[in-house]
Amino acid sequence: MSALSILRRPAFGRSILLALTLAAAAAPLATHTAASAGTVTMTARPDFQLPFPCGQQWRLDTWAHSPALDMVKEPNQVGTEGAPFVAAAAGRVVQSFFHSNAGNMIQIDHGGGWFTTGIHLQSRAVGVGAVVSKGQVIGAVGRTGPTSNNHPHLHFEQAFDANGNGTATWGAAGTERVTSVFNGATYGTANNQTFRNVNSCGGGTQPPPAPAKYYVDTFAAAPGYSSPGGTRTGTLNAGTNYVYCKVWGPNVQVGSAYNHWWLKTDLDSGSPWQNQYVSAYYLSRWGNDEAKDNNGVVIRDC
Ligand SMILES: [Zn+2]
Repeated sequence: MSALSILRRPAFGRSILLALTLAAAAAPLATHTAASAGTVTMTARPDFQLPFPCGQQWRLDTWAHSPALDMVKEPNQVGTEGAPFVAAAAGRVVQSFFHSNAGNMIQIDHGGGWFTTGIHLQSRAVGVGAVVSKGQVIGAVGRTGPTSNNHPHLHFEQAFDANGNGTATWGAAGTERVTSVFNGATYGTANNQTFRNVNSCGGGTQPPPAPAKYYVDTFAAAPGYSSPGGTRTGTLNAGTNYVYCKVWGPNVQVGSAYNHWWLKTDLDSGSPWQNQYVSAYYLSRWGNDEAKDNNGVVIRDC
């Protein structure tokens, strides 16, 4: 028991993005000016495409920073680094510089108070003042800036200049970023949503987000741990329980039954009791090294 074999780790953990607390960088540019600060009536949003060339599929995650989206290339993130980054709609570049936290960033003013911002870029192909068309390559996806956690991905935000001062703040909670709409479909209204195989252009069908919780039956009281195989913190009672996601960890084996998957959940007792881990060995259904909910849906990676 307990042969520690971390064979597979989630390629893209949420820890990547927790540290994203950027100072909202804004060099004010009076592209449109309201008479006074206050709430500005939202104008029609431009018809944004995903900021990649047509014919591609990308994965979008909100992690802990909805409505911002982190984007990696499907099916396995290969090709994310260096991928062409294109303008999501026509507009004018209003920020293009190296930010100490965000790395290479570009912000486009699309008019009507609408902006898009992309950060962690490998390179920038346009400077401030450049007029760009929809689909025009403006840079490349990368992992610059410490908040990228050195993991190639595009952090992307749509924003509306709600206070009407002609700029859009970005990069942190409380800024003017808003939930994104691409090709007519809305993405990322809440944290911990994942959208797989999103088409870069056309096809405005929104794939369902991965569920936030999965319901599973467990056949016995399961010990809970701070991490897979880590410090014992409490107990998850037998019965129907919810779990959030799975991670691969130390094997738990009793007789011929075994499971390397660990399920993140909230325990029934213990301290701390939230966001602890129990072995998927305790699932009432399914076989060795399987981690599915009561409907047979494979529980997503944490
Ligand atoms: Zn991000």
